[in-house]
Amino acid sequence: MKKIEDYIRTIPDYPKPGILFRDITTLLGDARGFVAAVNGLVQHHVGARFDHVAGIEARGFILGGAVAHELKAGFIPVRKKGKLPWQVIGQEYQLEYGTDCIEIHKDAVKPGDKVLLVDDLIATGGTAEAAIKLIERAGGQVLACSFVIDLPDLGGRARLEAMGKPVLSLCAFEGH
Ligand code: AMP
Repeated sequence: MKKIEDYIRTIPDYPKPGILFRDITTLLGDARGFVAAVNGLVQHHVGARFDHVAGIEARGFILGGAVAHELKAGFIPVRKKGKLPWQVIGQEYQLEYGTDCIEIHKDAVKPGDKVLLVDDLIATGGTAEAAIKLIERAGGQVLACSFVIDLPDLGGRARLEAMGKPVLSLCAFEGH
């Protein structure tokens, strides 16, 4: 049987030299791969009650939407700045050069809502940390974070665990 990592294509030097891009389009495009990934993300949380799954733009929408459906939770899109039509709150985060900003609608969560954060991959954890801060500033409670891929050498998992957040990943790759 194929493992999750076998469905993922690695593209060297994309989007810039030295990066090994972990491309999940090959996983999403394969019915067995997509089912295995969504089941893997869901399995861990069977019995837990989440009000929402929050997915990070853009690949987190594809996986997070399917996970929300399975867990019978609502879905919150965590979007890049300037994309949402209603009142937003934003959270800046550090990139290698400069900063970026993600946003959710102000009324996306109610105080005390329980949220599962989903994205395709965790590297440094900067994006996920910003998403957690954003959701918790809005009053939600991020109970866990789930990723298809972990790049442990970049420290993201440790960073989220240091915030007290349990982290689930379905596979891991060494290096960048
Ligand atoms: P980070 O904030 O460093 O944890 O980066 C996570 C975000 O960047 C995720 O939304 C990923 O989709 C994307 N990303 C970072 N590194 C890679 C990589 N090597 N391959 C594919 N996507 C990546």
